[in-house]
Amino acid sequence: MTTAIRSFSFGGGVQSMSALVLAAERRIDFPLFVFSNVGDDSENPGTLRYVEEYAKPYAAEHGIELVEVHRVMQRTGESRTLMQDLTRPGSKSLKIPVRMSNGAPGTRSCTATYKIEQVGRELKRRGATPENPATIGIGISVDEIHRANNRITEPHERIVYPLLDLGLRRTDCARVIRDAGLPVPPKSSCFFCPFHRPETWHDQRRNEPELFEKSCQLEEHLNQVRDELGKDHVYLTRFGKPLREAIPDGVDLLPMFDEADGLCDSGWCMT
Ligand code: SF4
Repeated sequence: MTTAIRSFSFGGGVQSMSALVLAAERRIDFPLFVFSNVGDDSENPGTLRYVEEYAKPYAAEHGIELVEVHRVMQRTGESRTLMQDLTRPGSKSLKIPVRMSNGAPGTRSCTATYKIEQVGRELKRRGATPENPATIGIGISVDEIHRANNRITEPHERIVYPLLDLGLRRTDCARVIRDAGLPVPPKSSCFFCPFHRPETWHDQRRNEPELFEKSCQLEEHLNQVRDELGKDHVYLTRFGKPLREAIPDGVDLLPMFDEADGLCDSGWCMT
């Protein structure tokens, strides 16, 4: 009988990096980590730098396979990033969870298309089948337990939550990483994700103005398309106004909101 694949869905953030360290220390059994890169023009550039500078060399040094996958169009074989998908001419559907004028996030297909499907495809390619499903570890920590079990499992996959089994909180995950002599990675997500907290947007405007400008341009592009379709405007924040106005320049402090950045449920984006 073929040995079942034991893999971990790697997002490049704190929880998945701690899982990589735990696997390297043989405290959890995951010899394969799969990183689905949504696109070099879409992921947080800090995450991509961290993956290249720290995660990949660390994995290689400790005998863990860290493989990076991208969305490849099945019909044409062409690679496509989420940003390309959102801005290509003729693209009408909203793939990301943009906010309606009442602040509520719309439905999204980005997580499924750019993360879940790509990881699943890689596991199938490696031989996962409904008869011999691959185990996939998801990096949800105890403080995010509400994000577990939201996922519809494919027949060739079996989802497990090793950080929950170990009772680790996000702060414990950061300690695991620091104890291994590694810096703690930044939060991983698309830089334009409408799930960002207002503080995250504010940090982006202050510290990464070019990225903030790109986020504004994306929001404007989506609304140009909405205008052509005769539809209401949508926003990247929940304030019902354009990002440039919702996150004013030069504001240093914003109130804390309890809405989490990590609403990208099932842990496939923010881990
Ligand atoms: S981080 Fe946000 S925009 Fe990116 S794939 Fe996840 S939900 Fe979609």
